[in-house]
Amino acid sequence: MEKAKNIIMNKNLVKIILWAAGILAVMAIAVTIYFGFSSKNIGEVISKTDNTVVVDVVAGDTLSKILLDQGLGHNDVNAIASVLKAKADINGLRANRDKIEFVRSNDAENKITKIIVIPSPWRRVDLSSDDTGAWVCNPIDIERDTRMVYRQGEILDGDSFYLAGSRAGIPAGILADVYDLLAFEMDFERDVRAGQKFSVVYEENYSEGKKVDNGAVIVVSFDALRGNVKMYRFKKSDNSIGYYDPNGNGAIKSLKRTPINNAKVTSSFSTRRKHPVLGFTRAHKGVDFRAPTGTPIPAAGAGRVVARGYNRGHGNFIKLRHNGSFETLYAHMSKFAKNVKVGTTVKQGQIIGYSGSTGLSTGPHLHYEIIKDGKHVNPMTVKLPAINNLDAANKAKFLEYKKVLDEAIEGLIKNPSAFVQM
Ligand SMILES: [Zn+2]
Repeated sequence: MEKAKNIIMNKNLVKIILWAAGILAVMAIAVTIYFGFSSKNIGEVISKTDNTVVVDVVAGDTLSKILLDQGLGHNDVNAIASVLKAKADINGLRANRDKIEFVRSNDAENKITKIIVIPSPWRRVDLSSDDTGAWVCNPIDIERDTRMVYRQGEILDGDSFYLAGSRAGIPAGILADVYDLLAFEMDFERDVRAGQKFSVVYEENYSEGKKVDNGAVIVVSFDALRGNVKMYRFKKSDNSIGYYDPNGNGAIKSLKRTPINNAKVTSSFSTRRKHPVLGFTRAHKGVDFRAPTGTPIPAAGAGRVVARGYNRGHGNFIKLRHNGSFETLYAHMSKFAKNVKVGTTVKQGQIIGYSGSTGLSTGPHLHYEIIKDGKHVNPMTVKLPAINNLDAANKAKFLEYKKVLDEAIEGLIKNPSAFVQM
C-alpha cells in the first residue's frame, strides 16, 4: 500500500516536472523570438562616447552587417572587407570574441575615419580612410607582458591533485596541462598520497598592467612515490618546444601510462588474479580504469591501428603498434571512433573509441594493455622511452637555461607573491 502511494506521488511529481519543463520551453521560445526578430541592434554596443563606439560581435553578425549598421556605404564595406582579407588575413568575424571600435571625426560631418578590429587580446587591426577615401589597413601585434609565477601545494588527507592544486591557487587550465604532462610519469589515482609536495611555474600574460590570460607551464615538480618528477619547458634552437627532465632528457614519453586522464584504477596488472566474471584465477594482462560508457579513449601514443574487432574476452577492441617494440590494446569499447580503422595512423591523444562494457566485463571500464616485444608488461612500471631528446648543443643550452631558471625559482620560493620575467 505504502508502495502504491509512493508510486502515485511519484506520478504527480512527474506531472509537475513535465508541466514546469513545458512552461520553461514556451518561455525560452518566446525569448528567442523576441530577441531574434525584434532586436534591431547589430552587435552589442559595449561602450560609447560622442566620437567612438565599441561593438562586441555576437552570433549572427557579419562584418558587412555591422559596418552598414554604423552608417558606412556599400563601397566602403567592400573596400574594408578586401583590405582586411589581403593585409590582415581576416575573412570573417567570430562571435563573443571579436570587437570593433569606430572613431568618428569631430567636425559637423561626424564621418567614420578610423575602425579598429580587435580579433584577439594580442592583436589589433587599425583601418583608416585616406584623403582619397581609400581604406588603409595596419595590423599590430600587441606586446605581451609575460610574467612567470610560482605556486606550491601539498596533498592533504583525502585530497586529489586537482583539489590540492586549486587550493594552491593554480588555475584549472594550468592544472589540466600539468595532468597531461605528468600522465606519462605517474598515476594520479595510485601515486597520490597525503604529504606529497608539488610546485608549478607558469606564465601569466598581461597587457597594460591588466592580466589577460595564462600561458604555458614552465616547470612542474611533483614528489611522486617513485621519487621527484620534475620537468622544464625548453625551446630548442630550431624553435620546437618540449619538456625535459633536470638532466636534459626528454620528459614526454612515447606512451602514456594512463590513457584517460584522472581515471581511477579499478584493477591492476597481475600475473595471477581471480577473474570477476570467469571466477577462476588467471593473469590480468592490463590495467582497468573506471570510465563511464561513452568516455572518449585517447591513443596512448602515436602509432598505427593493427587490429580492430570483437572477441569474447575483450569485446570491441583496438590494438595500436607504436614502434618496433611497443603495442597497446584497448578493450570493452562501446564503439570505435569514426575513421579509425585497421591501417589508420593516429596521433598521441587522438580519440580512437569510447569506453563500454562489451566482452567479458562486469561494468563500463577501459582495459588497457602495453605489449613490449610481444610480451605483456605492467603499464604502470614499464620503462618507457622518451620521444624528444636533445642533441649535444641543445643539451648544453638547456642546462644553462635551467641554471638561470632554478635561481629565479629560489627567489620566488622566498617571495611567493613576486614574479620573474625572462
Ligand atoms: Zn582488465
